[in-house]
Amino acid sequence: MPVKITLAQAMGTCFGVQDAIDMALDPIYRGKLTVVGQLVHNPQVTERLLANGVRIVERDQIDSITTEAVMITAHGASDSTKADLQKRGFTVYDATCPLVIRLHKLARFLEREGWFPVIVGKADHVEVKGVVGNLKASAVVYHERDLEQLRGHERLGVVSQTTNRLDKVNTILDAMRKLPWVREVRFIDTVCQPVKERQAAIATLLEADIDLGIVVGGRNSANTAKLREVIADRGIAAFHVERPEEVEPRWFVTRRHVGITAGTSTPQDVIEAVYQRVREIVAQPAAADHA
Ligand code: SF4
Repeated sequence: MPVKITLAQAMGTCFGVQDAIDMALDPIYRGKLTVVGQLVHNPQVTERLLANGVRIVERDQIDSITTEAVMITAHGASDSTKADLQKRGFTVYDATCPLVIRLHKLARFLEREGWFPVIVGKADHVEVKGVVGNLKASAVVYHERDLEQLRGHERLGVVSQTTNRLDKVNTILDAMRKLPWVREVRFIDTVCQPVKERQAAIATLLEADIDLGIVVGGRNSANTAKLREVIADRGIAAFHVERPEEVEPRWFVTRRHVGITAGTSTPQDVIEAVYQRVREIVAQPAAADHA
């Protein structure tokens, strides 16, 4: 029986990431721009940027910047980070995604309205660091074990890192509501629409009864890893690959239906290359059987 391949209806680069890449690759910035932090969590995009004369430094390497202009990535940064760059004399180009700006605004709104701001997300993620940096006091939670830091705060105003799984956010919200000292929890949904569309597309793939999932994206792309997790949580074999050559023929032995999806920072041509590799493998059943 031939192996069926289904591509997710929504996948790959979101508009926020694409706009940031387009800005950085604009020829007018060639050789003049340093991106502070990884513009997107994808190695192929990073290679393209470097080949186009864009320099990339980590946030703790700002002292080493030699270009006139710097760029804030789609993940955003705190106002103090931007002000610091301006104070150092750089022209700052801000590629923060509008949906990350919305997250910043809503977290500040909750703080202004007297709620204790809680961000559901990974404390070490650059987007979360930017949000936290704009608040007077806040907490970042990801697991139930993180909730102890909310002790003493009765009114919690909760937002989410834009790339979270909404079901996971809801689980932690339920746990927050059960904390004995908490009187009220107000949640504003800041998981972004493109991420929700990609999660919905995965649900459709799962309904289509796939028995193997391949998720394409950078090794350090949080949303790619989460997409793989959604498939694996259903007990379905799921692999996260950065490049087509990582797809192994042995994964396809005895499979009937392969679903392919990709994170929000994965370029279309990389998805296409992985798709072609999968097509080649499944077209050679003998190769798959003996790999
Ligand atoms: S994942 Fe969502 S929030 Fe992040 S850059 Fe893309 S659209 Fe914007």
